[in-house]
Amino acid sequence: MFDKILIANRGEVALRVMRAAKELGIATVAVYSTADKDAMHVRLADESVCIGPPPARDSYLNIPAIVAACEITGADAVHPGYGFLAENARFADILEEHEIAFIGPKAEHIRIMGDKIEAKRTAARLGIPSVPGSPGAIANEAEALSIAADIGYPVIVKAAAGGGGRGMKVADGPEDLADAIAAARIEARTAFGDDSVYLEKYLSKPRHIEIQVMGDGHGRAVHLGERDCSLQRRHQKIWEEGPSPALNAAQREEIGGLVARAVAELGYVGAGTVEFLYEDGKFYFIEMNTRVQVEHPVTEMITGIDIVNEQIKIAAGSPLSISQDDVRFLGAAIECRINAEHARTFIPSPGRIAYFHPPGGLGVRVDSSAYQGYVIPPFYDSLVGKLIVHGRTRTEAMMRLRRALDEFIIDGINTTLPLFRTLVRNADVQNGQYDIHWLEEFLKTDPAMEL
Ligand code: ADP
Repeated sequence: MFDKILIANRGEVALRVMRAAKELGIATVAVYSTADKDAMHVRLADESVCIGPPPARDSYLNIPAIVAACEITGADAVHPGYGFLAENARFADILEEHEIAFIGPKAEHIRIMGDKIEAKRTAARLGIPSVPGSPGAIANEAEALSIAADIGYPVIVKAAAGGGGRGMKVADGPEDLADAIAAARIEARTAFGDDSVYLEKYLSKPRHIEIQVMGDGHGRAVHLGERDCSLQRRHQKIWEEGPSPALNAAQREEIGGLVARAVAELGYVGAGTVEFLYEDGKFYFIEMNTRVQVEHPVTEMITGIDIVNEQIKIAAGSPLSISQDDVRFLGAAIECRINAEHARTFIPSPGRIAYFHPPGGLGVRVDSSAYQGYVIPPFYDSLVGKLIVHGRTRTEAMMRLRRALDEFIIDGINTTLPLFRTLVRNADVQNGQYDIHWLEEFLKTDPAMEL
């Protein structure tokens, strides 16, 4: 087992990793930018190292500074959290060269899944169906027009290097395609430094359903069921729940089993999520995330399995401690991502939290690094915290969520709490009747939303 883990991240996920490390008796090292000197992850770690000025490229993305911090503190492993360097294959390679363990999959698998075209090819080879689309990157407009005519409009142009909902543009007909390609390329070049794009059929009313998996690289893998992340704004998840209101146990076993077998065959190590769009009873692979996800607590609440603890043990060379038969699903869990943004305009609202009172009680979990008096810096993402509730049934989870949302007080900044208070009372949401477009439509058509 490792002696000391350096956490190459900040915010709630840094605390999340620290909790797992502490329970395993492993010492922790925090790294931080000068903007984060008062942050909770710095206070709670056993040691901390400042790695640079506020901009992420100079601190949380600064590989030499992070490797130096490992060497100064004698950390023998790095957990990257999510975001920042979590899906950077070069970072995994560099750590290996320095004989520091990377708590994540093999660099080779990060590379394959980081290129969505390669990921779709790999999925197909492993028997996982994908959204119909171009077989590879689009060379030119003529090729795109011919492929789009084959698959039928609307189509979506997507960045091969995409992530975070960026670099995606929809074309409703041939007349829109050139503009969509040009816009997607510009966004992709700016965000990812790579303007390769590909085409997919644009599904009109799918749900986003993803399967959590864990593999040990020794040919064993399990699935931990699904999360339904269909409530999205700008292709970004804001509410995640498990099980999906749209699946039954037999469907779960079928897709979960298919994915677990594929992941085992790949020799995948650690935690991963295989994402699908689900429409008319069919699953279509869109991508695989090779890291722990923001919404992993939903799965932890319904399975009782600590995903980060498993990640650490697997990275230290242990075989999976659970078999598929050990995985039991109990009740329902829902997570709300509470952002420091205005709940209607979504304008970011960094600043000082004047008052912070998180909810509690049975089945309520708050993963946050915020505290009263904390100043949210403007440099990073706007997540203030995640509220996760668990109930024996979905109805119980919804009742608990409503109660917990009403109990949650965050003063001094704008947050998206009022949006969730509205959603939890909405009939469609209560009935689980929503697809990936539902929230955007709701926001357009409900100016009377009480905020
Ligand atoms: P990212 O890596 O940027 O998150 P994904 O490929 O995971 O991109 O897609 C994010 C979201 O975009 C999906 O959950 C879905 O809402 C939407 N989306 C992606 N592909 C399609 C498609 N072919 N049809 C309809 N919506 C899509």
